[in-house]
Amino acid sequence: MRTVPVLLLLLFMCCSCAVAEAPTENAEGTLTRSPDTRDLRPRAGIDAEQSESPPAWTFPLSEEIIMDEADYLVLANVDSKLASDYAPKDLINIKVRKSVSETMKMRKAASDALDMMFKDALDEDNVKLYAHSCYRSYDTQKIMYANRLARVGYDDKLVQQAGASDHQTGLGIDVIGASWLGKERLNDGIADTKEGKWVLEHCAEYGFIIRYPKDMEHITGIKYEPWHLRYVGVEAAAYITDNGLTLEEFSIIRENLLNGTYVENESETTVIQIDPSVVLDDDGFEDLG
Ligand SMILES: [Zn+2]
Repeated sequence: MRTVPVLLLLLFMCCSCAVAEAPTENAEGTLTRSPDTRDLRPRAGIDAEQSESPPAWTFPLSEEIIMDEADYLVLANVDSKLASDYAPKDLINIKVRKSVSETMKMRKAASDALDMMFKDALDEDNVKLYAHSCYRSYDTQKIMYANRLARVGYDDKLVQQAGASDHQTGLGIDVIGASWLGKERLNDGIADTKEGKWVLEHCAEYGFIIRYPKDMEHITGIKYEPWHLRYVGVEAAAYITDNGLTLEEFSIIRENLLNGTYVENESETTVIQIDPSVVLDDDGFEDLG
């Protein structure tokens, strides 16, 4: 009968040993499965989720440009009409060469950019540009639209309704070259002239975009107008041009940024938030970004 307690004691000791050793083995087992990798990733995720500071501004254009206090990115079209009293405060008489003898006005920043562009075109490439039409007030546009309707009998979309014209922003301008002087109508043949080609290639360097680009009528509502430039500033012009956007599309991106609903593409987000070396170390984790 004495053997039973001894056996039980031995059994208990063995079990104790087994129980005592188990965590060590488990702990060692865990260590062999790259504990650093496993620890780092969830922590990075939790930090990102729990952080109270807003996410870093990673959009290629600065927050200041997107905020646009100077209103250089204002959109005017039939769906987003300017008020009848929308008239920029900093309109000045432009100083560049003009195709007609009337006074033309633009906002100062646009006029300054125009000065540089016309000068460089002539000095560097012997391209002679002319301002053809600049700022138009709401009332002027209203008269032009009424006249067009009376003449054609229906809205042929060649003259914008009051409030919908880019010219009311004080940032839009029609530009032609010496080879187009004296021609009555503007048409997309301007894009094939020496001056038109120069403008298409260089206008973004001075902060201008082609406001109504080729094959974008379904978005802008206006057919291709290679002569109508719109000042938006050098940075925005580069972004819009490089990405082949219309001002309408850029305005949606901007609105989303301002509302905090803009979502960057996945690869950008991955690079920003997670160390790629950590992600590559563990299977199943590559979708975190
Ligand atoms: Zn125009």
